[in-house]
Amino acid sequence: MDKVIYMDNAATTAVKPEVVETMLPYFTEGYANPSSVYSFAQGVKNDMEQARETIANLLGAAKSNEIYFTGGGSESDNWALKATAEAFRDKGNHIITTKIEHHAILHTCEYLEKHGFEVTYLDVDEYGLVDPKEFEAAIKDTTILASIMFANNEIGTIEPIKELGAIAHSKGVLFHTDAVQAFAHVPINVQEMNIDMLSASGHKFHGPKGIGFLYLSNKVKIKSFIHGGSQERSKRAGTHNVPGIIGMAKAAVIAHENMSENIAKTEKIRDHIIDRVLAEIPYSRVNGDRTKRLPGNVHFCFRYIEGESMLIMLDQKGICGSSGSACTSGSLDPSHVLLAIGLPHEIAHGSLRLSITEDTTLEEADYVVDELKEIVKRLRSMSPLYEDFIKSL
Ligand SMILES: *Cc1c(COP(=O)(O)O)cnc(C)c1O
Repeated sequence: MDKVIYMDNAATTAVKPEVVETMLPYFTEGYANPSSVYSFAQGVKNDMEQARETIANLLGAAKSNEIYFTGGGSESDNWALKATAEAFRDKGNHIITTKIEHHAILHTCEYLEKHGFEVTYLDVDEYGLVDPKEFEAAIKDTTILASIMFANNEIGTIEPIKELGAIAHSKGVLFHTDAVQAFAHVPINVQEMNIDMLSASGHKFHGPKGIGFLYLSNKVKIKSFIHGGSQERSKRAGTHNVPGIIGMAKAAVIAHENMSENIAKTEKIRDHIIDRVLAEIPYSRVNGDRTKRLPGNVHFCFRYIEGESMLIMLDQKGICGSSGSACTSGSLDPSHVLLAIGLPHEIAHGSLRLSITEDTTLEEADYVVDELKEIVKRLRSMSPLYEDFIKSL
């Protein structure tokens, strides 16, 4: 096969052609700065506000002005945490998050710890689930904010967000969720799910890179994050990325129009890959919850295998996968997520994430599993540890 089989959609996705088509006129025709006064700019501004309203509606937000456009998921996460911490410092200095968050949350929390905040990192169970009772017990008088991801980017586990949000609210704690892997993939309603703040990113759902949004409930009063002009209600300065905004909204609409159908299709292929691997590759395990799981997430550990070698050999077969998250690959440390679900280092090292979409075919899935079987066999045949293990049986 000369074709690339792309199974790294948790790292980024292809922009849909319809999305590109919707964006193009905003580079060459509708290029006006939406903050300018003339009617040419006002037309562009109207289109941008329509995109904002579209996203607000898809999220079940009360008002469209609760959507703030940002430069992506990392920025939204940084903003939500740093600005809330600053705004509510008088009320308390305690923040609750989890051990399995994306680094955009974890490293922001570490930064806040250096600036006088206290952070509790909740444990998760072997499937990556946060225990609502443990969350409730961690809330103190000084707790101002909880940030718990909607779905994990490595192992795909979907957290009980509605229940966690209800607990936060019952204790007067603000609730943020990093929904970068979940928005436009699974249904989300911020009001029904007790969410005050939510981060999302265009390039994770077939929209463009470098554009995202923060849903910020009007009940939460926080300060400007990027200082400068008066864009985004003076909270996030900078000339609007109009093509990005238009494209992200279009991608969100397409995803929501076909969501239940896409979920069913993707889950079928996902479960086919998982079932085949568990049945056909010995000493393999699936990570994450089998049902509370992102439709497109497949995540394994293979004993006596080094993740990086597996990726290189898959690449030689035209298959794009990932070992852990894109941000940590390149480092030899095992994933913090796999350690948090209780895997020992030597097993965590042999991890493989395949993130698929509704366009992934059964043929592609079977090709990948067939190649993977051979690769695992070959790598184990070169491993003295595996040889010792087999002898010890
Ligand atoms: C990709 C990702 C981010 C970062 O989003 P960017 O738009 O790439 O900055 C944050 N959180 C999660 C869970 C992600 O998967």
